[in-house]
Amino acid sequence: MKEEEIRPQELFDELLRLNRLDIEKYFSKSQKHSIACPACQNKGVIAFDKDGFVFDECLTCKTLYVSPRPEKKYFDAYYTDSDSTKFWATTFYKATEKNRREMLWKPKAKLIVNKIQSFSPDTSMIVDIGGGYGTFMEEFLKLLALEHLVVEPSAYLSKVCRDKNLNVLSKFLEDMVPDELPSLRKTFVSFELFEHLHEPRKFLQTLHGLMSSGDMFIFTTLSGMGVDIRTLWQHSKAVSPPMHLNFFNPKSISHLLNALGFQVVEVSTPGKLDIDIMNNNKANLKKERFWSDFLEYASDEEKQHMQNFISDNLLSSHMMIVCLKP
Ligand SMILES: [Zn+2]
Repeated sequence: MKEEEIRPQELFDELLRLNRLDIEKYFSKSQKHSIACPACQNKGVIAFDKDGFVFDECLTCKTLYVSPRPEKKYFDAYYTDSDSTKFWATTFYKATEKNRREMLWKPKAKLIVNKIQSFSPDTSMIVDIGGGYGTFMEEFLKLLALEHLVVEPSAYLSKVCRDKNLNVLSKFLEDMVPDELPSLRKTFVSFELFEHLHEPRKFLQTLHGLMSSGDMFIFTTLSGMGVDIRTLWQHSKAVSPPMHLNFFNPKSISHLLNALGFQVVEVSTPGKLDIDIMNNNKANLKKERFWSDFLEYASDEEKQHMQNFISDNLLSSHMMIVCLKP
């Protein structure tokens, strides 16, 4: 898989251009508050400034995060109305839908089935938090016919899911109460949502309250220790506020989950794109002599070996966490 197949550069650049205009519109006059490290609560230091947002890095656990953080109401307005959000949900998504289904969602559905079979074989319901277009759920149910629910706050996306005959609860997870879920053994999943959360700790606390003992939670998010993010740093396109606010890493996310009463079962970084992303952004790697020379010097096969090494050693920026409520 290549980055271009799921994120065509031209469309991605247009998305980022619209995003910069939206930042001006929705955030230039926002009220902001400094926050401590969302993983370990220590005070961070300034890492860099990007598009009007300041990123702090926690020197204790290396989590990278936006602070000061604008109040939640500005994000709500941005996600409801902005041109970049609409561009993402329509033009960008449509252009990449087929490739995303084949290259991302089908393998992910298979992977989640494996995790359920390995770690929670008596799961009888799957709940997808922030289920979007419902593509994951469609592919998952083809493999394993469990009870299901898509939790999706957007009215537009909820309708898309209902039109696919999926069960939808049109809400933010943070507004859910335990009565809204049947008392079945559940696996909750959420994909590429955690980096967007205004209050990740609160999200996990709410989720913990919704889970019964023995339920499982599997999620993917961006790791700030991912090699493309660490080397490209402020030039990394994944570091894109106001969308992406939190870059935990395998150790810091485990710390947070343990502190909140989850039992971490497995952390992996199954990402496949780090080297390709670095290759597509060589101009911003000039000071990284090892990597810029490696990208020129190595054969495709050697690059693939390096990518495998990165993924196997928890150093890819695409991270997956499996945890249980004990
Ligand atoms: Zn920290």
